[in-house]
Amino acid sequence: NSAKGAHLEVPSEAFHPKKGGYKHLPVVTRYLDNSIHEKETKPKLVVIGSGWGAVSILDKLEKDDYDVVLISDTNYFLFTPLLPSATVGTLEMRSLLEPIRKIAARVHAHYLQARAMDVDFESKMVEVQDPHSGENFYVPYDKLVIAVGATSMTHGVEGLENTCQLKTINDAIKIRRVVLENLEKASLPTTSCEERKRLLSFVVCGGGPTGVEFAAELFDILNEDLVKWFPKVLREDISVTIIQSRDHILNTFDSSISAYAEKKFERENLNVVVNARVERINENTVAYSIKNKADSENPTRHEIPYGFCLWSTGISMTPFAENISQKLEAQKHSRALITDGNLRLKGIPDGSVYAIGDCATIENPKLTAHIMDILQEADKNNDGSLTYDEFKAAIQYIRRKFPLTSNHISKLSDLFVKYDFDKSGTLEMDELRVMLNDLDKKTTNLPATAQVANQQGKYLGKSLSKIAKASKVGTSSEQVVEPFSYHHLGTLAYIGNTAVGEFNWGFKMIGGLWALYLWRSVYWSEQVSLRTRVNLSIDWTKRAIWGRDLSAI
Ligand code: FAD
Repeated sequence: NSAKGAHLEVPSEAFHPKKGGYKHLPVVTRYLDNSIHEKETKPKLVVIGSGWGAVSILDKLEKDDYDVVLISDTNYFLFTPLLPSATVGTLEMRSLLEPIRKIAARVHAHYLQARAMDVDFESKMVEVQDPHSGENFYVPYDKLVIAVGATSMTHGVEGLENTCQLKTINDAIKIRRVVLENLEKASLPTTSCEERKRLLSFVVCGGGPTGVEFAAELFDILNEDLVKWFPKVLREDISVTIIQSRDHILNTFDSSISAYAEKKFERENLNVVVNARVERINENTVAYSIKNKADSENPTRHEIPYGFCLWSTGISMTPFAENISQKLEAQKHSRALITDGNLRLKGIPDGSVYAIGDCATIENPKLTAHIMDILQEADKNNDGSLTYDEFKAAIQYIRRKFPLTSNHISKLSDLFVKYDFDKSGTLEMDELRVMLNDLDKKTTNLPATAQVANQQGKYLGKSLSKIAKASKVGTSSEQVVEPFSYHHLGTLAYIGNTAVGEFNWGFKMIGGLWALYLWRSVYWSEQVSLRTRVNLSIDWTKRAIWGRDLSAI
C-alpha cells in the first residue's frame, strides 16, 4: 500500500465509499514533471488507447481546455491500412508508426505507457497496471474516453494458436519472418517435395479487406521477388488460398468490385474458396467445410496443408471493454460498448464516459428507417410499390450513402436476388418494411474502420472542447453539442499491383495502374506526420528500384 515517489498518493478514506469495492492503491494526482493536475484548475480528461480514435481526439481538442492523460500499452500510433504491405517488406515497419508522445505533445497531454485494467465509475478512477512491476495504481478523471479498439474474433474455432493474426506491428514482424523462413526452408535440399508444398501453402481465413489485401501482398512478393531470388523454388509448388464464409470475397463492396477481385485472383491462380466454414486449425492442416446447396445438413469436408495460416475473420471485444460491459447493467450481453448518439457510454448517468472506434457501437441509429425513407422516395408514382428500375436505383443510392453492415447487405441482396427472378413485377413497400424492420432493433451499425474511429475522435475532440468552454459559463453540454453523424467517404482495398474502391459520390475504382496510384495517394495524404509521408515515398521508390528486402530478421 505504499506510495512510491512524489507523484503517487495513497487514496484517502474518501476514495473507497463501498466496503471492499475499492482497492487500496496509489492514486496519481501529480506527475513527474508536476505540470499536470498540480493546480487542478482544469477538468481532467483521460483517454485510453493510442489508435485512430484516440489520436483523432488529440488532433481536434483545444490546447488549454483539459489536463489530458493518455494511457496506452503501445507508445506509437499505427497506420493500420498499410499494415499488410509491411508483412512482405513492401513498406518498412517504422514508416507506419508515429511516436504517441509527439502527437500527445500538441495538447500537452501526459502519456503513460501502461494498460488500463478497470474503471471505478463511482469514484471516477481508472485502474492502470505498470507493465514492468505489475503494480496497479489509479488515475482520476472528470471525463473519460475509451478507445481501446478490438481483438480478433475466434468463432470458437480450435487451434488458432497455430495461426498468425494481423492487427499489430508485432504481428506484421512475425508474419514477415515466418513467410521468409518458409521460403528458405523450402529451398533446402533436405526438404522433401511434400514438405516443400506444405511450407509454400499460404492459407488466409477470411475474405474481408484485411485477408484479401494480405493475400494480394503475399502474391506480389511470390510473383515478383521469389522467381528472381529463389531459383530452386518452383512456382507451381506455391499456393495461396483464401477461405471465405460468405458467397463472395470483399462482400461489403459493390458486387462488381468483388466480382472483379475474384476474376483477377482466378486468373492469377490465387484460390478463393467461398461459402466455407473453417472448423479447426490443426498443426499442419486447415479443416473446413463447404455448404452443400442440395443438402444443407451435410456440408462437404476438406483439409488443406499449410505452412502459414492467417486468421482474419472479424473482431470482438478486448478483455478491458468486456470487463466494462459486464460491470454495467445497460451494457450486458452486447458485442461492443453501447453509446448514445453523442458517443456517451450507456449506463453512466452523468455522461462523463465516452466510447469510440472499434470498441463501441451507437445505439439504434435508425439506419433502416433512413433506408425505408429512400425506398419510399424512389416510389415515383406513390402507389406503395417499386418497379425493378426504381428499386435498383434506390439500392445503388443507399449503398453510396450509408456504410451498410453485413446484416443490411445480406437482407437487401436477398431482396434483390428474389426480385431479380421477376423483373416485370413490382415490389410491395409493405414487404420491404417487414423484411427490414427487425434490423432496427439491432445496434450494430457503423463498420469497424479507421474512417469511423477517425471521424468519431475528431467529433469528440471538438465536442469536449465545447463542453469545457460551456461549463465555465454554466451552459449545459446538451446545448452546445450536436449528436455525431457519420459521413461515409468510401472504401478502398489493395488487390495486387492495383486497387479497387467505391466513393460516396458514386464513383467506382476497378483496377488499373492509376487505381494503384490513387490508392497510394489517399493513404499518403492521410498520414499523421511529414516524417511518415517521406518514409512511405522512400519505401515505394526503394521497392521499385531494388525490390523487397528479403532478410528474415
Ligand atoms: P485501434 O486503432 O485498434 O487502437 C486501440 C488502441 O488501444 C491501441 O493503441 C491499443 O494498444 C490500445 N489499448 C487496447 N487495450 C488497452 C488497454 N486495456 N489499456 C491501454 N491501451 C489499450 N480501416 C479503414 O478504414 N481502412 C483500411 O484500409 C483499414 N485497413 C486495416 C488493415 C488492418 C491490417 C487492420 C488490422 C485494420 C484495418 N482497418 C482499416 C481498421 C482500422 O484499423 C480500425 O478500425 C481502427 O484502428 C480502429 O481504431 P480504434 O481507435 O478504435 O482502435
